Amino acid sequence: MEGIRKEELKMPMLRVKFQCPNCQGKLLEEVVIDAVIGTQIIEISEDGDEINYGKPLYAENGHVDRYQCNTCGLILRRDEDGEPCALPIELFEWLTVHNQYLQR
Ligand SMILES: [Zn+2]
Repeated sequence: MEGIRKEELKMPMLRVKFQCPNCQGKLLEEVVIDAVIGTQIIEISEDGDEINYGKPLYAENGHVDRYQCNTCGLILRRDEDGEPCALPIELFEWLTVHNQYLQR
């Protein structure tokens, strides 16, 4: 691949304007499972029951389980009663089929 830099191969990005077909919620979330997550610890309560966290430090080894509506939990599926979308291309196809707004 001499002469071709990585930046030149990057596809243009489209902004996702999600609207849930079930509840009209607008926040689309990615759910990652099996991750190892490190988080800074700031405070602990005097009874040892509660921790206040600071910055996320790292998240490793996770993989996408599904995409879903953050408001009602509707899971985006590849087809009716199908498996959850779990790859970017499957999400893209769902957004296209459901006439979700993709904006350059
Ligand atoms: Zn919803």
